[in-house]
Amino acid sequence: MRAKRVLSFVLALVLLVSAAFAAPTAQAVGGKLIAITYDDGPGPYTQRLLDGLKARGVKATFFMLGQRAQNYPSTVARVYQEGHQVANHSYSHPELTSLSDSGVKNEIQTTNSFLDKGCGKGTSYLVRPPYGSMNHYTAQLVGAPLILWSVDPQDWLYRNAETVKNRIVSASFDGAIVLVHDIHSTTVDGSLAAIDRLKAQGYEFVTVNELFRRRGRSLANGGSYSASRPNGTDLGPVKPPEVSVTPENGRLRVSITAQQGASIYYTLDGSDITQTAARYTGSFLADAPCKIKAVSAYNLNGGRSETVEKIFTKPAASTPAILVEEGLLTITCESPGATVYFSYTGASYSGGNQIYTQPIPIEPGTEIAAYAGGENYLNSGRVQAMYSARGTFFQDVLPKSWYYEPMDWAAASGYMNGVGQGWFQPGGQVTRGQLAAFLYRHAGLPAIETDPVGLFPDVAPDRFYTTPVAWAWEQGFVQGYGDGSFQPDRPVTRQEMCAVVFGYLRSLMGGVPQTQPLDYTDRDQIAPWAYDAVASLTALGLVNGTDGAFNPSGTTTRAQAAIVLMRVTELVESLDEDPGDNGPLPSPDEPKPEEPSQPEPPDTPSESGGEGTVALQAPKAKGQGLG
Ligand code: ZN
Repeated sequence: MRAKRVLSFVLALVLLVSAAFAAPTAQAVGGKLIAITYDDGPGPYTQRLLDGLKARGVKATFFMLGQRAQNYPSTVARVYQEGHQVANHSYSHPELTSLSDSGVKNEIQTTNSFLDKGCGKGTSYLVRPPYGSMNHYTAQLVGAPLILWSVDPQDWLYRNAETVKNRIVSASFDGAIVLVHDIHSTTVDGSLAAIDRLKAQGYEFVTVNELFRRRGRSLANGGSYSASRPNGTDLGPVKPPEVSVTPENGRLRVSITAQQGASIYYTLDGSDITQTAARYTGSFLADAPCKIKAVSAYNLNGGRSETVEKIFTKPAASTPAILVEEGLLTITCESPGATVYFSYTGASYSGGNQIYTQPIPIEPGTEIAAYAGGENYLNSGRVQAMYSARGTFFQDVLPKSWYYEPMDWAAASGYMNGVGQGWFQPGGQVTRGQLAAFLYRHAGLPAIETDPVGLFPDVAPDRFYTTPVAWAWEQGFVQGYGDGSFQPDRPVTRQEMCAVVFGYLRSLMGGVPQTQPLDYTDRDQIAPWAYDAVASLTALGLVNGTDGAFNPSGTTTRAQAAIVLMRVTELVESLDEDPGDNGPLPSPDEPKPEEPSQPEPPDTPSESGGEGTVALQAPKAKGQGLG
């Protein structure tokens, strides 16, 4: 600011100064805050000033001229990156009140476009009108908060560092905005000396934005401000975010937290954080090696925390694979030289594991957990598997799951085959072909009279379900569609499953099982051909609804099918032993709808293909009486 002044501004300054004398030294909450502002730069001394501010941990505000920002783009970027506030002081330092409307807008917008080169598009900038010359009309045209000042040491006049220092120190007060110019070398030295003195007096130097935010005040577009006096409020500085990283399946799960109300911005390639950086909305996966930078901010321009950096130079190890075959535990990891850690009680990153070196004999009824790591890797994700007491190896069915017992039973009995390597896909949908196969195996692979080839045009002669479909059709448990097709790969609906299982159960029990009227809220949606079946299976406790509804056209998971198969077996056995007691059969729909959460197996064949690749096994003793 130079000689010219506007009367209204002088009046405002007089009022402010008199208020400063009148104000008692209030018992302020928090420390004394002050904003030092540097105008008319950037210039040849600005880098030296930034070094000095950095050494002192001080944040300042720079009201830049567009024509100078144009010539010092890297200085603009440095000011912004180091947490100072970049602001607009017009392009060519005219008196805005003397310009046309378009002239005012051009001065502001041209400057914004040069500031954007350092701060990123979308950044908003406070404006200081040259000479403090403004009126209401100009303020509306500018469309940003207008920042004046309350301490003016006239550093442009007194080109002596000691004098500048003394004039700043003597006029400063809590909440002041100090005006100086970084285009004078004497101002750089004098202002840094003043900062040292004022810090020793308990002042904290903040940006203009922070001076207002911390006192709970907001800055309005078109409003003008010259100080932010203490009001008993200090919301405190912007704290750096906390970045935590954990390995997950060979990648890094990044979680970042910040204080209430602050946004989090981050980059993963080590680049500086500007307005165009990613905004954090929840934990995410990143690939190592990487360099994470994160800040929390109320405003990236002058309201940001210190930058937190986390560097990961090592790749994460591949998650190992567990396999148990013929009682021998093998753990493999694709990362060369990685150490594989395992445990029978749940491998923990914090220790208590064994190091795997070679295949190990293992007893049925053992749970295994493993991960890979070592000197050259970040820890991989953890993997768990189960070698069941019945001798079945599972990667995706663990004892903690509600479907563990029926899946283990169905797999060990040979009724349900996985897709190999311990993958049984408990959450997979059961197809019509699969259901026929499950029941055919359960029935003990009976001989059939029908030629299965060509019975249905869409049932190929060599699929795992070819003979089971013919058997189920021969027995009257299943029917084709009106067009002659069977659609073996179509997911079986709940009412279809009931009809098929009802037919099978009736053949096992030698009569019609008990039934009762249905009170499902959606009973009207049950097809007439399925109604008796649903009613009977409901009465027997083999199926039930959820929240009072049966959902007849819903699909059935492999875990649910295993439970139904187990109930059928238990029911028939209990009728043999004690006709009056169905026992406390849990219902297949009763357990909480926990979805299997194991990762998908690599290169898993399709559900039906997988069933087809495994040779049909004869059911063990438990099922033999059923055929
Ligand atoms: Zn100026």
